[in-house]
Order: sequence, then structure tokens, then C-alpha cells
Amino acid sequence: MLVNAYGAHAGDQPLQPLQITRRAPGAHDVQIDIAFCGICHSDLHQVRAEWQGTQFPCVPGHEIVGRVAAVGAHVHGFRPGDLVGIGCIVDSCKHCADCEDGLENYCDGMIGTYNFPTPDAPGWTLGGYSQQIVVHERYVLRIRHPEEQLAAVAPLLCAGITTYSPLRHWNVGPGKKVGVVGIGGLGHMGIKLAHALGAHVVAFTTSDSKREAALQLGADEVVVSRNAEEMATHAKSFDLILNTVAAPHDLDAFLVLLKRDGTMTLVGAPATPHASPNVFNLIMKRRTLAGSMIGGIAETQEMLDFCAEHGIVADIELVRADQINDAYERMLKGDVKYRFVIDNATLAG
Ligand code: NAP
Ligand code: ZN
Repeated sequence: MLVNAYGAHAGDQPLQPLQITRRAPGAHDVQIDIAFCGICHSDLHQVRAEWQGTQFPCVPGHEIVGRVAAVGAHVHGFRPGDLVGIGCIVDSCKHCADCEDGLENYCDGMIGTYNFPTPDAPGWTLGGYSQQIVVHERYVLRIRHPEEQLAAVAPLLCAGITTYSPLRHWNVGPGKKVGVVGIGGLGHMGIKLAHALGAHVVAFTTSDSKREAALQLGADEVVVSRNAEEMATHAKSFDLILNTVAAPHDLDAFLVLLKRDGTMTLVGAPATPHASPNVFNLIMKRRTLAGSMIGGIAETQEMLDFCAEHGIVADIELVRADQINDAYERMLKGDVKYRFVIDNATLAG
């Protein structure tokens, strides 16, 4: 079936209207009418071919929410009309140790929502900047938020799980001091989630203008990371630092803020590498520099339920499809509070 979408034909071209085909739902598939799709910085990295291996045409989008339109004969968990979400994963091998542990995000055969191999035309997956998507039921998430919040739920499917998973993995909770670096789409969710988990949260930003807003989001303190004196007041004090920055920067400036046995986990994925950190900043206090990628399906459902229970959604700015290119430019300038979300009804044309 042909559906309208928005995507690019090359890394140096703007996104534009396209038509793509979606497969008819198989026995285990759920067909979803997409209502809203968040704009993640990873969409920009990939559609502009900043990371290796982008296939064109590329239709980005992995923060997808909408309603079930139809289900295959063997689908029992979902019915037409259900409110559902699709995040960054649409398939995996389903039998390796990672899949069995519910960590499909670390399966070597994980198929991402766009730009991954598929038997469907054109040979790679096409994402949520489109009217519909068809996904195996295993990768479909249930949304328990009120429908009025649906657009603001979309960013939970990537920004939410990418910050929730490391916060849970490193046991963030009461009595823990957590830093969140970069107040963008991921960072603002990291602040809300770490606060809801009961930690003492310090937000690090390069933008002095985000100071007040960070407190509103749930930060207990805000540090402008360009200010060395402010940084020094937090030396050797953090249990965990969640670093969401989308560009190369000085990691040492943050490593020295970790206490003994503290961890800084990187989730930001800049197109060019960071300079290697000073090894002494790791060995002197047995510190860890780590990484984390999105989260598994079970944990994504747990995060969505946690957010529904605690009334947590993203702070969003809704845009039309024809504003996507402009939204990318604004995201690069940090001019967004804190996630653009596409109203997919505007794809109807
Ligand atoms: P975003 O909305 O653009 O936010 C990034 C924030 O980083 C900015 O708002 C800014 O915050 C800060 N920043 C940007 N450039 C900077 C620089 N040169 N120096 C210091 N700080 C800078 O992006 P996002 O959607 O949150 O994504 C962040 C990164 O995570 C991207 O690289 C994305 O690809 C990656 N990502 C990774 C995963 C994963 O699974 N690991 C999942 C999703 C996204 P301030 O203004 O507060 O400084
Ligand atoms: Zn993302």
C-alpha cells in the first residue's frame, strides 16, 4: 500500500514529500496509523549522512505514536483502535542471549526503525515521518497516557528510553547525585526521569538561558559548563553523569566531577570522535567511562508505564511536515524546548 512520507534523496538535500510502500500486515503484524512522530537528533545525523552507511531515499523517525488500524490473524495483544508506540527497534533475531534477556537493543540482528535491511521495498526500513507503519507485534508498545497527551508521549519512545535505561542500569534513586549534560531532547527527559526516580539532579548546560527552565524540569541545581569555577564546586561528587551532548567536547571536564567508583555514561553520538580522555582521570578514582544505547522492548514498556503513572511527558513544539527542515536548523542551534514533534496529519497533502 502506498503512503505519504517525508524524506531525503541524498545527504546534502533537504527532506521533501515522498510516497513509500508498506507491506500488508502478516499474521504477527500490527498496522498503525501514525498520529505523531518526534524529531531526534539521530534523524538529522543519519539523513545528512553524518554517520556511515545511510541508504537513500531515507525516511527518518523513531519516536512514533498512533492508533492500531489492523492486526494479523495471530496477533492477540493488540486490537484496532488501541493507542500504541514504536521506538527505535522493529525487529531482531528473537533467539540470541540479548533477545532472551529482553535486550533486543543489543542483538547483533537488531533492525532499526529506519535505514536497516528488510525484505520490504526498497530494501531498508523507512521510519515514522510517514502516514502508516507495519511492525511485528513484539516491538509494539502500549500507551497508557490520556489521548490528549499523545503528541508529547512520542519523544518517550527514544529520548525517554535512552535516558531511562542507563538511569535504571546504574541504580539511580534517592541518595544518588546525578548529572545530566546537555539540555536537549534527551537531556530534558533525563532530568525529568532522574528527578522522578528520587535522585539529586544537577543539569549541565552550555546555554545560560536554560538555567531557569532546567529547574522547572526538575533539576535541583544547574551548572553552566563553560564556567570553570562553577564546575569546580562539584568536583568528585557524582555517582552518575549522563552525557547527552551531540558534539565532540572535553570529557575530562566531567570525569573529574565523578566520585570514587562513579560512572559517566555517554549516550550522545557525535559524528566525529571525542578527544581521548586523560587516563589518570579514570584510574585515580577507579572511575568508569561507559556507553548505553536506547533500551529493550520490555524496559521501554516499563518506562512508558512509569511515565504514565508519574504524569511525565516531553516538552514539545508541534510542527507540520513542511517545517521539518526548519526544525533541523533550529535543533542544531539549540533553539527548541525541548523536542520537535511532527503532526503526521499534515502529511495527508
Ligand atoms: P539535541 O536535542 O540536539 O540536544 C543536544 C544538546 O547537547 C543540546 O541541546 C545542547 O544542550 C548540547 N550541545 C549541543 N552541541 C554542543 C556542543 N558543541 N558542546 C556542548 N554541548 C552541546 O539532541 P538529542 O536528540 O537530545 O540527541 C543527543 C545525542 O544523542 C545525539 O548525538 C543523538 O544522535 C544521540 N542519541 C543517542 C541514542 C543512544 O541510544 N545512545 C539515542 C538517541 C539519540 P545545552 O544547550 O544545554 O548545552
Ligand atoms: Zn532517537
